[in-house]
Amino acid sequence: MKAYKDKEGRVRLFRPMMNIERMQKSAERIALPNFDKDEMLKCIKEFVKVESNWIPSERGYSLYLRPTMIGTQASLGVGSSSNAKVFLIASPVGPYYRTGFSAVKLFADPTAVRAWPGGSGDSKLGGNYAPGIRTQLDAAAKGYAQVLWLFGPEHYVTEVGTMNCFMLWKNEDGGSRRAP
Ligand SMILES: *Cc1c(COP(=O)(O)O)cnc(C)c1O
Repeated sequence: MKAYKDKEGRVRLFRPMMNIERMQKSAERIALPNFDKDEMLKCIKEFVKVESNWIPSERGYSLYLRPTMIGTQASLGVGSSSNAKVFLIASPVGPYYRTGFSAVKLFADPTAVRAWPGGSGDSKLGGNYAPGIRTQLDAAAKGYAQVLWLFGPEHYVTEVGTMNCFMLWKNEDGGSRRAP
C-alpha cells in the first residue's frame, strides 16, 4: 500500500481497507491470529499522519507502506504460532523501474509458475517472493526487465514480476476493449 500527497498536499491512501482485508485473509492462510480491521486502519492512518514528512510530493513518488505480521513464538517446529507481532515498514519510493514509466521488455518462461490453483500464491506471504528470484535473474541476464508469469498449457498470463497485469487490446477498427 502507498500513501500519496495530492495536488493540495493532502495525504491519501488507496483503498486501505481492501489492503487490510487481504492481510487478514493472508494471515488466516498461514494460521496467524486474527485482528480488528478497523483498529489496524486507525494505526496505519496515525502512522501516516505522524510520518507525513516522509511522503514525497513529486509526481510518481509516494510513501510505500508494508504492514507486516510475523509469528514470534520462541520454539522450533511446524505448528501455528501462539504469539504474533504486527509492524509497519515504510519507505519513500519513486517509479519502480529504472526506465521510469516507459515500456519494459518482459520474459515469458512457461516452465516457471508463480501461483497455481489450490496453492498459497493468492495470499500475500513473504514466501511468494524468493521462489521468483531465480527466474527474474535469468530474465535480467537475457536483457528483460521482468518476468511475465504464465500458467497452464494455455499459457494464461497471471502476473508481471510481482505486480498485477492489466491489458488493453486495440481492435482492428481502432477501438479498444478489455482483454477477456
Ligand atoms: C502484492 C503482490 C502483487 C500486487 O498486488 P497489489 O494488489 O497490487 O498489491 C502481485 N504479486 C505478488 C506476488 C504480490 O505479493
